[in-house]
Amino acid sequence: MDKNIGLNDKVELLEKINEFEKEIYDLKQLIEISKGLNSTLDGNILIESILLTCMGQMLLVKAGIFLQKDIMNDNYLLHRNYKGFELNHRIEYQIAADSKLVVFLQNNFRCYTLEELDNILPDTPCLNTLKAINPDLIVPLSGKGKLNGIIILGDRISENIFSQVEKEYLLDIASLAGIAIDNARLYEMATTDMMTHLKIHHFFKTALADEIKKSLNKKLPLSLIMIDIDHFKNFNDTYGHTCGDLVIINVAEVIMKNIRQSDIASRYGGEEFAVILPGGDISESLIVAKRILKHVETSIVEYDDKELSVTVSIGITQFDPIFDKTTDDIIKRTDMALYQSKENGRNKITFIRAGTKM
Ligand code: GH3
Ligand code: MG
Ligand code: MG
Repeated sequence: MDKNIGLNDKVELLEKINEFEKEIYDLKQLIEISKGLNSTLDGNILIESILLTCMGQMLLVKAGIFLQKDIMNDNYLLHRNYKGFELNHRIEYQIAADSKLVVFLQNNFRCYTLEELDNILPDTPCLNTLKAINPDLIVPLSGKGKLNGIIILGDRISENIFSQVEKEYLLDIASLAGIAIDNARLYEMATTDMMTHLKIHHFFKTALADEIKKSLNKKLPLSLIMIDIDHFKNFNDTYGHTCGDLVIINVAEVIMKNIRQSDIASRYGGEEFAVILPGGDISESLIVAKRILKHVETSIVEYDDKELSVTVSIGITQFDPIFDKTTDDIIKRTDMALYQSKENGRNKITFIRAGTKM
């Protein structure tokens, strides 16, 4: 081998080494980002993680993400977890699924500035939403080749212009984020009861085991509430199954409105519901149960010009590490409390303490 490499060659060689080292660093970062984004199926945690990753990697102050609302509405809605943008909380920032912008991004997966999009799609109202937010860069996300989100970024701490390499890097992050969002969405659909939008029975059982573990680790209380609609068979027989379905949906809505975001509500069975209250002791769960009982009793479902209402019976218990060896132990006790509410005349709440003879 020729040992007499010229100075120019050496400089060139060093530059190449630097370039490769940077590429290796970026790839390692992408592997870490991929691991991070794939470690959760929880939509909110995932979105937080995507936004913080973009902000951290590009040194940005502002970031947000538009995602499709749900299966019934495929318009793109700005997720409430956006960072830094000063926006009007009362406005829903939305981009229509059939807008020229969506059609264009769907066919051109690249990063764009607002000015670039304005030149490509002149005088189209579909850019008004983005103009109202005024991001510096717009990055499309895709899952299985289909646009499934739009990231908006703004206010760089260092310099304002994004280089070509940075834009490509952002697209790499976006493609990882797009796949993770698709997975989280599939998981959400597979674990959600389509009629009530509450979690399904299997999810409840798994979540209960997970939450009990967490409460043991953090030494925090955990309570379980079970709710069953009273005389529902009669109701169905009198007003029909379709009307019964509306009532089930209404009770589910009442439950959702009266619990915290960290509580986990599920459709335990046909007209039975279960709510896990992580961190909730008996007095807190009693307050929640009372709210649910009262609001179900007073809420009205309109059907065939009739104003109908039902009542529910509720059972509550608090997890006790001494008595509750399996999830079935706490479920059985809550079920027993619910049974007592039925026995005592329905439209009632019963609490059974762990260790009570049943
Ligand atoms: P109790 O007060 O003791 O709970 O009486 P109940 O009639 O509510 O109890 P039971 O468990 O005997 O009946 C539950 C009824 O709920 C029977 C079933 O037809 C109805 N049900 C279960 N799932 C659904 C559903 O998805 N839609 C409708 N409309 N009814 C349902
Ligand atoms: Mg019932
Ligand atoms: Mg029942």
